[in-house]
Amino acid sequence: MDIDETKQELIKQAEQLPEDVREQFVTRVQEMSEQELQDFLKQLAQKQNSWQGECLFCSIANGKVSSFKVFENEKFSAVLDINPVSEGHILLVPKKHVESLEKLENKKEMLLIVEELSKKMKQELGVHDVAVLISSAGHLIIQLIPVYQDTVLQFSRKKIEKEKMEEIAGKLKCDVKIELKKERVESKKEIQREEETIEDKLEQAPRRIP
Ligand SMILES: [Zn+2]
Repeated sequence: MDIDETKQELIKQAEQLPEDVREQFVTRVQEMSEQELQDFLKQLAQKQNSWQGECLFCSIANGKVSSFKVFENEKFSAVLDINPVSEGHILLVPKKHVESLEKLENKKEMLLIVEELSKKMKQELGVHDVAVLISSAGHLIIQLIPVYQDTVLQFSRKKIEKEKMEEIAGKLKCDVKIELKKERVESKKEIQREEETIEDKLEQAPRRIP
């Protein structure tokens, strides 16, 4: 391929770029000497290789690949899934490369974002319910899948024998003592507060003379 053909090929590949960027790019390519063109091609190849080595979801979360973004803050990005289970399927991705929920530092923030996005889906898309799926493709992904009225998510299901179910339940049984204790203490306090106020009111109320 001679230098002009290479330039034409490059310009063709730039068709997807936004117009103003493309114009600049085309001018730059046309003005390149043969040496400049070779250096540029080398750089391009290196960039492509390094992108291929990087985690796809790091690239998505940090805006290095184009996506349909619906939310972004310092720590998270949310984009539309390009192969949605249903219309409005969102992927919420931490910007930092985290493999699993266990290793995520901002779990509470994540839940608040899930809540907000779910609200928005219901308001704007008329979504009946939102199924939240925490998964990992090497990078933690929280999937928000809209469930529309009178539709069912297409997961294939099967019946399992009672004994097997009991065995599985036994294996998965767990306790979250710390959280439960906290809640109990708080609700006790509230009850006490209520009792006090009722007593206060009784004392303040004028006594009936029999
Ligand atoms: Zn990653």
